[in-house]
Amino acid sequence: MEKECIFCKIARKEIPVEVIFENDNFIVFPDAHPKVEGHCLIIPKKHFTNILDFPDSLGAELIETVKKVAEIKIKQGADGFNLMQNNFESAGQVVMHMHFHFLPRKKGDGKNHYCV
Ligand code: AMP
Ligand code: ZN
Repeated sequence: MEKECIFCKIARKEIPVEVIFENDNFIVFPDAHPKVEGHCLIIPKKHFTNILDFPDSLGAELIETVKKVAEIKIKQGADGFNLMQNNFESAGQVVMHMHFHFLPRKKGDGKNHYCV
C-alpha cells in the first residue's frame, strides 16, 4: 500500500468513491474523465504498479470481476465493451497503480475500438 497513491486512497475509501462493484481484492469505480458513457476502472485493492508486478494468483478473480462489471453494464444497456490496460509512461500510464479501463460500448456510439 502506498501512502500517496490516489488509487490506494480510493481503495481505502479515504476519498469519496461511487463503488460500482467490489469484492475481496478489487474495487470498481467511475473514471473521472470518461472516454465513453459508463467508463470505469477496475483496480486491485493492494498496490501494484503495473501488470508485471500484479500476481498471477489474482488473475482468476480479476477475470471474475471483469465479468461482474460486464453483467452490470449490459443490464444498463451496453451491448459490448472494451478493456484497456496501460503499462509504463511510454504507453500512456498516468496512475502508477495497476488498473483496467472498462469501456462500455453501444452500437453506433461513434467510437472506434480504441474508444476515440
Ligand atoms: P491511465 O492513463 O491508464 O493511467 O489512466 C488513468 C485514469 O485514471 C484516467 O482515465 C483518469 O481519468 C483516471 N483517474 C485519475 N484520477 C482519478 C480519480 N481520482 N478518480 C477516478 N478516476 C481517476
Ligand atoms: Zn496504489
